[in-house]
Amino acid sequence: MEEKVLRFWKERRIFEKSVGQHQGSERRFILYEGPPTANGNPGLHHVLARVFKDLFPRYKTMQGFYAPRKAGWDCHGLPVELEVEKELGLSSKTQIEEYGIEAFNARCRKSVFRYLKEWEALTDRIGYWLDMEHPYITLDRDYIESCWWIIKNLWEKGLIYQGHRVTPHCPRCVTSLSSHEVALGYREDAEDPSIYVLFRLRSYLQYEGDERTREGLKKLGWNRQKARWDASRPSLLVWTTTPWTLTANMASAIAPEQTYVLVEAPGPEAVVERLILAKPRLDAVLGTSVRVIAEIPGKELTGLYYEPPYPLTEVKDYRIVPADFVVMDEGTGIVHIAPAYGADDFELGQSFGLPVTHTVNLDGTLKQSEKPWAGRFVKDADPLIMEDLKERGLLLKAGRITHTYPFCWRCNAPLLYYAKKTWYIRTTAMKDKLLEGNQEINWVPGYIKEGRFGDWLRNNVDWALSRERYWGTPLPIWVCQGCGHYEAVGGLEELKEKAHREKMEESGYSLEDALKDPHRPFIDRVLLKCPECQNPMRRVPEVIDCWFDSGAMPLAQVHYPFKNAELIDKDLYFPADYICEAVDQTRGWFYTLHALSTLLFQRPCFKNVICLGLILDAKGEKMSKARGNVVDPWSVIKAYGADALRWYMLTACPPGNVRRFDQEQVKEVMRQPFMTLWNTYSFFVTYANIDRFDLRTPAPPLTSELDRWIISELNGLTAQVTQNLDSYDPVEAGREIEKFIESLSNWYVRRSRRRFWKGENDQDKRSAYHTLYNCLVTLAKLMAPFAPFVAEELYQNLVRTQDPTAPESIHLTSFPVADHSLIDRKLGEAVQLAQLHSSQGRAARAKAGIKVRQPLRRAIIEAEDIEWPLLERLVTDIKEELNVKEVVVVQSIPLEGWASDPSIVVIITEGGPRTAVEVELTPELLKEGRAREIVHRLQSMRKAAGFDIADHIATYYQAEGELEKVLREFAPYIQQETLSRELLAWPPAPGAYQETHRIDGEEIVLAVKKL
Ligand SMILES: [Zn+2]
Ligand SMILES: [Zn+2]
Repeated sequence: MEEKVLRFWKERRIFEKSVGQHQGSERRFILYEGPPTANGNPGLHHVLARVFKDLFPRYKTMQGFYAPRKAGWDCHGLPVELEVEKELGLSSKTQIEEYGIEAFNARCRKSVFRYLKEWEALTDRIGYWLDMEHPYITLDRDYIESCWWIIKNLWEKGLIYQGHRVTPHCPRCVTSLSSHEVALGYREDAEDPSIYVLFRLRSYLQYEGDERTREGLKKLGWNRQKARWDASRPSLLVWTTTPWTLTANMASAIAPEQTYVLVEAPGPEAVVERLILAKPRLDAVLGTSVRVIAEIPGKELTGLYYEPPYPLTEVKDYRIVPADFVVMDEGTGIVHIAPAYGADDFELGQSFGLPVTHTVNLDGTLKQSEKPWAGRFVKDADPLIMEDLKERGLLLKAGRITHTYPFCWRCNAPLLYYAKKTWYIRTTAMKDKLLEGNQEINWVPGYIKEGRFGDWLRNNVDWALSRERYWGTPLPIWVCQGCGHYEAVGGLEELKEKAHREKMEESGYSLEDALKDPHRPFIDRVLLKCPECQNPMRRVPEVIDCWFDSGAMPLAQVHYPFKNAELIDKDLYFPADYICEAVDQTRGWFYTLHALSTLLFQRPCFKNVICLGLILDAKGEKMSKARGNVVDPWSVIKAYGADALRWYMLTACPPGNVRRFDQEQVKEVMRQPFMTLWNTYSFFVTYANIDRFDLRTPAPPLTSELDRWIISELNGLTAQVTQNLDSYDPVEAGREIEKFIESLSNWYVRRSRRRFWKGENDQDKRSAYHTLYNCLVTLAKLMAPFAPFVAEELYQNLVRTQDPTAPESIHLTSFPVADHSLIDRKLGEAVQLAQLHSSQGRAARAKAGIKVRQPLRRAIIEAEDIEWPLLERLVTDIKEELNVKEVVVVQSIPLEGWASDPSIVVIITEGGPRTAVEVELTPELLKEGRAREIVHRLQSMRKAAGFDIADHIATYYQAEGELEKVLREFAPYIQQETLSRELLAWPPAPGAYQETHRIDGEEIVLAVKKL
């Protein structure tokens, strides 16, 4: 069915028509498609996001909004490079450069769309309507040009700078990462060494510092007269989880306001050591059995000299310095400082004039050719360094620690904090604006606003923009070889104007190549002429963060400002009304969109955003290839259809929750609501065909209470769904629709059955047909954004077959609008009450073990303050539903007494009204029960014999005793219910369908024959 609908949409170009019919409308609804990378197969989590992205534009389109939806593909960056490296068997940047940047990037370009067909097929199959014929592609020349324009704009505002700082650095990819990329790769269970190391104080002192320091020295046992230590030399006790950084130690930091202690403790070689550490850390680190010799205020330690484990030629004196980041909840209160490998270390180093010396290469291997760990990767060098410290008696304790540590989000290498020059966007300059803009955004779930996203903005750091890589938008900054002047280029025309053509010709470089493809290496060959000194300028080697590309999509997708300027300047395609991705994008795409739009226009870039929770497997485990629990979306769609999967994803749990994906629940959706809806629809079609019901006959006024009720419910539902979708709450909308389907099938249709069965086409019957038809068509429209396939099928069969002038697809119709004048809340409540008492009454029967077919004398219900007409309605419903002769309404059913009487069963709900039924059976009631039982058996036999619902039959029976009496007494009733023109106490006529039954211990032979 769904595939037929897909073909129909495609042949008739329904998507294009649905967007096109509102083109030019003042009411616009803009969705920004967060661009996926098409170099991997799309998975279930992509389906989740795409289903949510699809829902709202469909809804808004039906409401008359113009809602264009442009597809996009993210093409640049490490993910692509990494794939190609694997393919080519390259493992380092040197190897890539030997292979050639031009050839490497050509491979990257090719690999980008490897899974494009799979993406398009899946997008199509799940019914995500998106303009995939005109996508934006981040590697396009026009797209890159817009990115350059943005960079130039920020450059002119002074928001781009090159900083020498410690940045998160991936040693495998050999590039900086931005803080939002780092945020993607934290692991909570990273295991590292945890070691306590001795830094011995110097044994001679040329300088004893000021009064304060001399005071501290005295307490530590320095004998100034003899110029030596009175007892053994004290050591600073230092804790680290990165032993390799000890090779670059340049200072040790303490908290000046804290108290430190000098203690005697057993050292590494069983000799007693004198150790210095913060007093609050003493118990945790050394236990309670050590002897405290002295207490020293932190500030008296500052300025003391010590010997680092690995002295560097660049540093003469190693000193204790004060710092405000030394904490007392871990370590020893003494922090070893390696300015090259920590952000705090770097800052502190700068303020004390320490050099930044690297003992580690950019690829994470150690320099220090004289050491055994030379050339080893830092983490592999750790054990060797610990071994060395141990041999020298400097390692007090060594263990392992499990803590949170960042890893490269693409290649999984542990990140290093590494001091180097990197280009930054000064987002911190706009921090207040970023926070202000966030106030205008509607986050779903709401707690993201001040939580995850707000926190991220409050702790904003400048955006590390540059990547020392190959496949990306080149950073359009040139530097003069003569005078060091910098120029940013904001477009290809500007590039042409500024190019140093003579110099380029001399070198045999082509400007045309770069204009055609502004990627590396072509752009690297473009030289500019320095406006200051006329010397040639070269481009800096970096490319930019691919997250910049995706954050630039609002402008770059329309090639702003080179084309379509009015779309942005007049707010026609900016900001977005709605975006939706997984919650990890709060620090990724959501952030880069927000940051760029704030820096450029001082305003946010999207109004509403849904952050989707992660998808786990049914047991709550992460899906991974290794576990073998990855669910292939195709298999789910094949088994249950796209609509069932969509419905499940949209309504199973609030969008932000972590969800456990359970195929069984998708199967359940097939049953309920879809099968229930389908059965109701089939019921209508079957009877409408039998009666040749003509829709064009005018609908009679709603005289039936039942019709008035379901129409009231329908309008209430319409209002509810509209309100839920307007507040981006598809879960609630979906649940309301499910409830309505249940009411329609299990109350309205069931209780209207007789109206459809009866012979003549009177007004009441016509009213029932019109009402049910109205419900089904409206329901289909309400469901269309959720379950576009089923909705289309219903619409085509119910509407288009009747009225060829109707819009050719349900998705071209208008979303229903609630008529509040038709909503009767009191009636709704009365029916709800009837439903409640019916279900409680049925439970009471079940408890007494009496079938519903057995009539009972009386039901007693609790009800108060109901108006008479509603009460009448209530009583009629309950009488029929519970198959009782009488319903008695009382103010209250006493629990005591009644419950102990075995002829009465009371059922109580949690705080709600109570229902009771009398279960005592009189001979009359028993007879009637048997009559109903016989009708029931005959109905089943009609079905088994393959008769049509409307077929008239002859019924034959052979029975004795009680059953025979019942058949005679209730003959008219049995005939009417089973459409039996004849009810004969004869042996079956030839060709009749025959069965033998036992009812209440008596045997009866029944037979039916079509007339
Ligand atoms: Zn990496
Ligand atoms: Zn110059």
